[in-house]
Amino acid sequence: MKIVLLGPVGSGKGTQAGIISKEYNLPHISTGEIFRTNIKNETELGKIAKSYIDKGELVPEELTNKLVEDRINQEDCKNGFILDGYPRNIEQAKFLDSLTNIDLALMIDLSEDKIIERLSSRRMCSKCGQPTSLEWMVDGKCEKCGGDVYTRDDDKPEVIKVRLSKQAVSQNVIDFYKQKGVFSKIDATDVVEDTYALVKSILDKVNND
Ligand SMILES: [Zn+2]
Repeated sequence: MKIVLLGPVGSGKGTQAGIISKEYNLPHISTGEIFRTNIKNETELGKIAKSYIDKGELVPEELTNKLVEDRINQEDCKNGFILDGYPRNIEQAKFLDSLTNIDLALMIDLSEDKIIERLSSRRMCSKCGQPTSLEWMVDGKCEKCGGDVYTRDDDKPEVIKVRLSKQAVSQNVIDFYKQKGVFSKIDATDVVEDTYALVKSILDKVNND
């Protein structure tokens, strides 16, 4: 099963990808992880990518595509994979389509209000450094060590709004997969387990087709 996961930051997409990966024994592939692995292993592509990252420049699209191609051609992807955070735009979607047929493009969706509510409830402990949340804290302090907590700049509502608008899934990509008949969308408002139940029902349907 070759799966593309789409969705905004804060929708819990990464968490769902992790569960699918375990349950269906498929590698969870993100571009960030591909970059890190290639740089760590000092591959040819990794060296080129690093030269851009070191200069604070964006890695060119062509190189990102090559890295993804190289990754999905590896042995562990023979029976499928979960691509998370790629394709980001229509050019990447078309490139991926030239390499292989995607069985499912699944959008893990969540309304902007809910994302802001979720992300803005995150706190960091100033004492033990653990992330926590308004729900877990005890008497306004870290539930693990009792330390004072603070909100990361990234988790402030006005910053979240900017991140969301920058990283929105492009409608072109959605339309592309709709035309291929492989697009599905679920709403991730419920708790992780309930959201996964929705994901699983879609995956099992695709698997049996
Ligand atoms: Zn703490």
